Amino acid sequence: MKEQDFEKLEGIKVSFGKTALSPKSMYCDKCDIKMIKSAIEMPVSDYIKVKLNIFKCPKCREQIIGLDEAKKLDEALIINRLLTKENALSFKRHLSFDGNNYIFRLPSELTKGKHKEVKITPIESNEALIEW
Ligand SMILES: [Zn+2]
Repeated sequence: MKEQDFEKLEGIKVSFGKTALSPKSMYCDKCDIKMIKSAIEMPVSDYIKVKLNIFKCPKCREQIIGLDEAKKLDEALIINRLLTKENALSFKRHLSFDGNNYIFRLPSELTKGKHKEVKITPIESNEALIEW
C-alpha cells in the first residue's frame, strides 16, 4: 500500500493489533514473518495529519497498528470533527456556583443511561471535551 492510498479516510486498510497496546514487534498472521515498523503520516483532513507508527509486512504489505496508535487516530478524528463542526451538536448550559465549584446539568435525553462521572479532556485553557 502506497502513501497516497491514505488520502481518503474511507480507504484506510489498516488492521488493529489484537491485544497489543503498544507492540514492540509484530508478526504477520498470514506470512508468519516479522513486520517492519515504520512511521506514516495519515491525513485526517486538509489541515490535520496524524503521525502513526505502523507495522508493515514486507511480503503481503498487510499493515497493522497498535491500540495506542489507533487511539491517536481516534482522537485526531474527534479534534477534526470539533474543528469542522461537522455533525457537531453544541448547546449551552447555565453554570451554578456553590462557593467552590461551578456546576452544570447534563440533560438526560443526551446521556441515555445512568452515569456517575464524566471525562473532561482540556483542549484549550477555556475549552474542553466532555464525554459520558
Ligand atoms: Zn504478510
